[in-house]
Amino acid sequence: MALAHDASVHRSITKTSYLLGRQCPRRQWLGHHGVVEPAVTEAAVLALQIEASREVESLAAELFPGALRVCREGEATTPYVGVEGTKRALAEAQAVLQAHFEADGLAAISDIVEVRAEGLYLWEVKSSTYEAEGDDDEARANPLYDWDLAYQVHVAREAGNVVIGAGLILLRKEYVRGGGPVRAEEVLIRLDRSAEVAALAARVAEEVAAQQSMLRGSTMPTELPGPRCKGGRKVAAGNRPSDCGHFLPHGVCGRELPVFWAGSLPNLAGGKIALVTGTPGLKIEDLDPNDPAAKWTETQRRVIEGVQTRDEVVDHVPLREKLDELEWPLSFVDLEFDPTMAIPRHPGMRPYDRVPFQWALAIEEECGGGAGGGALLPGAHDSRSESSVRRVPAGRPATDRSPGRAPPGRGDDGAEADREASGRRRHGAPAGADPTLRRHREDRKGGLLPPGPDVLLLDQKAGTRPDGPRLRRPRHRKRNAGGGGVAPSAAPRREP
Ligand code: SF4
Repeated sequence: MALAHDASVHRSITKTSYLLGRQCPRRQWLGHHGVVEPAVTEAAVLALQIEASREVESLAAELFPGALRVCREGEATTPYVGVEGTKRALAEAQAVLQAHFEADGLAAISDIVEVRAEGLYLWEVKSSTYEAEGDDDEARANPLYDWDLAYQVHVAREAGNVVIGAGLILLRKEYVRGGGPVRAEEVLIRLDRSAEVAALAARVAEEVAAQQSMLRGSTMPTELPGPRCKGGRKVAAGNRPSDCGHFLPHGVCGRELPVFWAGSLPNLAGGKIALVTGTPGLKIEDLDPNDPAAKWTETQRRVIEGVQTRDEVVDHVPLREKLDELEWPLSFVDLEFDPTMAIPRHPGMRPYDRVPFQWALAIEEECGGGAGGGALLPGAHDSRSESSVRRVPAGRPATDRSPGRAPPGRGDDGAEADREASGRRRHGAPAGADPTLRRHREDRKGGLLPPGPDVLLLDQKAGTRPDGPRLRRPRHRKRNAGGGGVAPSAAPRREP
């Protein structure tokens, strides 16, 4: 098999490499031998995630005033470079940022190392949230992070340091930003994980030795694709750091799989995973949908039959019943969110509150009687704003159709004027109320905007067209209602 190699690959075992090795020896071996792993995450999304992590790291550094920062070899952004710079910094300061440790082919960079009288205390900064208040705090600690810390402690000790403990710095999930600047002591929480990390020490030493032996080999390990290929940061074993790019169709493993690989059956669990992933290249076509021993679920059985017959499987009756419930006009609201904002930028927001920055409204109507409209979400900075929801008018007169931005200076009175003029009002719905949106909110258990997919289908029969015709034969006359826009507050992102 021809493999694309990256000559610049780092040959030491790093923290990332160690964690990938716990997920899959083959993945680690491929990386160690310079085989480029296809990207799973889009570059733009990755850049946002990295930016969020750096923001949290910068904030965490404020918890350690006077800390010295170490840079990588070749960067020279500070006087303290690499391992040697770390040694000097540890001798000069009470805390060191990005401390470098190396020993016997192992390398680790610790986010923050605190110099205490008895020895070093290692801190790992994560941009994940942690709920400090509740009944079962320990259950909320991510197992992967303990392995991450345990590896760092192992390398630091192998490098000759006395390490007395390790902990995590995380975002407080319950934090709500007030009116002033974000304060590190308020938004971040320190979690001591020394006991958990100590319990992993022996296993880390064993695993590192085994990995070094495996990586010296010239033969690619024989792991087969299976559940391990998917990331699962909360997995108890702490061995699923991320989705593997080699599982993609153009990845080393993905391209060897048949188009209808048995392992892609939905909802595989328990013994079925071993059944379908234990045979290399097993196809769905090879499975017996009626095999009593396999105990396929109804969905799995239908997928098997669908693949084998190459027939689409459509539940016509329940689909028909659902479609018959719809009445014209139908509105399609598409809301786009930024879910990567770790540090809240506006008062009233929590970490990772979704920030709506763009929306569009399209109305599909049978008889042409509906009017379209839309306005920029005025509460785009706050996804939980009541006014954000009310400002999506279902029926603005054609003469007042917005190109997607709210007229300058229009406040809540403007929104009310929209409703006054809307088709909803003309059809007798109470002013200021939108039963459809209210019902939608109730369906979402009180959330004002959806926490899930960012595309909504709103059935407007209750508020917009109580006397509208029943849908019998869809005509698919979908038009853009003139709504939609980009929130000016969403880009570029600025520090408050
Ligand atoms: S696709 Fe799966 S089996 Fe292949 S290297 Fe990645 S994790 Fe390992």
